[in-house]
Amino acid sequence: MGWGGNAARVRLFDTLTREVVPLEPVDGKSFRFYCCGPTVYGPAHIGNFRTFVMQDVLRRVLELGGMKTKHVRNITDVDDKTIRDSVAAGRTLKEFTAQWRDKFHDDCVSLNCLKPHVEPSAVEHVPEQIAMIEELVEKGHAYASGDGSVYFKISSFPEYGKLSRLDTRELDLGKTQNARANSDEYEKDNVADFVLWKGRREEDGSNFWESPWGQGRPGWHLECSAMILKYLGKSFDLHSGGEDLVFPHHENELAQSKCSCGGDFARHWFHSTHLLVNGKKMAKSSGTLYTLGDLAEEGWSAMEVRYVLVGANYRKQLNFTIESLHAAREAMGKLARAADGRVAPGYRELAKGGDLGVFARAVEKLNEDLNTAAALGELFGNLKKAESEADWRGFFTVLAALGLVLPEPEGVEVPGEISELARLRWEARQSKDWEASDRYRDELAAKGWVVKDGRDSYEVEPA
Ligand code: AMP
Ligand code: ZN
Repeated sequence: MGWGGNAARVRLFDTLTREVVPLEPVDGKSFRFYCCGPTVYGPAHIGNFRTFVMQDVLRRVLELGGMKTKHVRNITDVDDKTIRDSVAAGRTLKEFTAQWRDKFHDDCVSLNCLKPHVEPSAVEHVPEQIAMIEELVEKGHAYASGDGSVYFKISSFPEYGKLSRLDTRELDLGKTQNARANSDEYEKDNVADFVLWKGRREEDGSNFWESPWGQGRPGWHLECSAMILKYLGKSFDLHSGGEDLVFPHHENELAQSKCSCGGDFARHWFHSTHLLVNGKKMAKSSGTLYTLGDLAEEGWSAMEVRYVLVGANYRKQLNFTIESLHAAREAMGKLARAADGRVAPGYRELAKGGDLGVFARAVEKLNEDLNTAAALGELFGNLKKAESEADWRGFFTVLAALGLVLPEPEGVEVPGEISELARLRWEARQSKDWEASDRYRDELAAKGWVVKDGRDSYEVEPA
């Protein structure tokens, strides 16, 4: 069923075809998708969470539309950065990454992100990664180099570069024939055979495994291909990450997977645009990197951060500022006041579907390429019209799709000057100085406030 009584037709921009396409499960049953997860060497920042929240919104929109999903998201706990920082901290890789994985999970809970159905860890899938490399070597797509490392031969895969649209200048295969990228990250200008297995190096400390090519460890790009094969198979519905992952990470995954086991790999690709802070890339060095913890210290809730993140369409640039958090607080307060104590039905209940009243158009905006900004526009635009049960179901369905939980409606904040006048009036009344008491009452009225007296106390409210 799903919202509006119809199975939703969710459409999304596909990075591979550069077209907005309908999303339907390949197997006709459940929409199976994979998200590249966090690299757990420190706390995730709110830029990472733009991507994770948008993936969460996609899942919610599909599920509330009546579709079943299978959501797999990995934990990157063995790569250049996790090894480097765990060695520097003098801790085992396992201990070091566990603390940051737990922190990531706590942040996901605060942000109201649904838990993936499967969350595999890279370090626990080394045998699967070795098996994939063996397959690639056997089929002539990979070769061992002298130092115990193994590289993927990109000239063996004619489709290489299709996803990230490498042009012929970048993809000068003659040039790449002798070029190799041994580090996990590199730019488009340095297209090269990339590393699948890294021969053991001293700086990796005790982080090495036995393999047919000697001791070493897997390269970063391989883990997702191996875990996808295990949990989603050769062909699945959608693959996702932030825009920085298109090249080289996803291009490399595609090459490894298609060359080792055949199949279509991902049918669709979903990438979200990076979050900027004060117009710049998020970076610790320029003081523009925020975690949820940093913002909590300034009094901002995770839900206010989520509101900012869903406030822009995922394909548009989003510039994070503290002002945007103020606006989020105000907007959420307005929604909470409109809801006026109504309790949101549960997620499963909403997923059963039904008439969405005046908010049906807001849902259409979400179905059409996850236009979260337009959906919020529709939500506010129709707030005053909400009356019927269907309208309120629609209201809470849109909020559930965006993953927003409204704050408890608060009492109105009384300015200090007003509470002082009210106190003076109360004192005058206690001493039966009616003239002074009336004067304070008139002064309060002129400022738009009234006082209601009880037997032993009083309350001040907007007039
Ligand atoms: P990482 O922990 O670096 O592996 O990144 C986790 C996810 O966050 C990946 O999907 C990245 O593409 C994404 N990401 C990194 N930086 C940003 C950013 N500034 N805005 C949005 N997504 C980002
Ligand atoms: Zn990945």
